[in-house]
Amino acid sequence: MNEQPSRRIIHVDMDAFYASVEQRDNPDLCNQPVIVAKRSRRAVVTAASYEARKYGIHSAMPAMRAAALCPHAVFVPPDFVRYKAVSNQLQAILSRFTSVIQPLSLDEAYLDVSAVITPGDTANALARRIRSTIAIETGLAASAGIGPNKFVAKIASDWRKPNGQYVVPPARVNRFLAPLPVGKIPGVGPAMQAKLADMGVATISDLRTIERNSLVKRFGQWGARLYKLARGYDDRPVESRGAPAQISAEDTLAKDLYLQDIAPLISRLSEKVWQRYCTQNPGLARTVTLKLKTTNFKIVTRAYTPTAPPHSADEITAIACGLRQRIDYPDHTRYRLVGIGISGFIEADAQPHQQCLFDDTS
Ligand SMILES: [Mg+2]
Repeated sequence: MNEQPSRRIIHVDMDAFYASVEQRDNPDLCNQPVIVAKRSRRAVVTAASYEARKYGIHSAMPAMRAAALCPHAVFVPPDFVRYKAVSNQLQAILSRFTSVIQPLSLDEAYLDVSAVITPGDTANALARRIRSTIAIETGLAASAGIGPNKFVAKIASDWRKPNGQYVVPPARVNRFLAPLPVGKIPGVGPAMQAKLADMGVATISDLRTIERNSLVKRFGQWGARLYKLARGYDDRPVESRGAPAQISAEDTLAKDLYLQDIAPLISRLSEKVWQRYCTQNPGLARTVTLKLKTTNFKIVTRAYTPTAPPHSADEITAIACGLRQRIDYPDHTRYRLVGIGISGFIEADAQPHQQCLFDDTS
């Protein structure tokens, strides 16, 4: 087997996402068993709050069965427009930490942070900052798994749910995987579990006792992949796709500067960002982010989403300069890197609506 590429992958997964959005937006629902589903014969549960899960309720269960399990549960019909809006906000936050992001659904994504970890920092600490940023800016809890590849990171994000994180360093991958039931492997459903059970395989450690040839003979390519996964080997890269989540520019300074002296640099970087934005034309930008790195390599980011999308380099500059007031490091702190980003792109069709909002308030 080839050498495992050395990556630091974070899998971020929001906790009971749809149900949590409902609880956040309606305080009456806090601490209540909330079921996101229509209360009808044909409906299935889209999501269940942790309070509802205590009654054995889970997603994909018929709504009527959920109602029987917990008669006092509150049913809320799904509102995907709102969930999508929160999801966009989440993607914008993630894109401030790395540009290598692969969303898996509205509420989870892989991040490859191998290239952005600075000396003295760790993927574990970075995941903590990502989760706290999500909590502060969306009011919602996320969990994270950290590992040397996507497979391990995804399993690990389940480990400390809700609102927790778990790191599996490369040296601990084999020990971490060994006792897990094979059903934890993404793609191994009940049918596959039954086939493996026929071969005497219940756990990943059992799976390791089966020779590669037998697995390939029985399951083809999928067997070859199972052989690798059982050993914690997964070389799939994190694949960003579609429009960029963020367009940004940053500069490491020749000489460290104080906060009050970086305005000219902000202006230059905003020009650069605006030019890139005009060439790529990914839709309207909603959020402007200022990123700074202190001489001690501490990274701080502040973001602002104005009502009307910024329409020029000057507007981005003004917003980013304003964001300096939200940096709460002591005045004598000096900075070695400044970055400007725009993100949260929305389709230009949304503009008339934005314009309306702007006209109404001006
Ligand atoms: Mg989730």
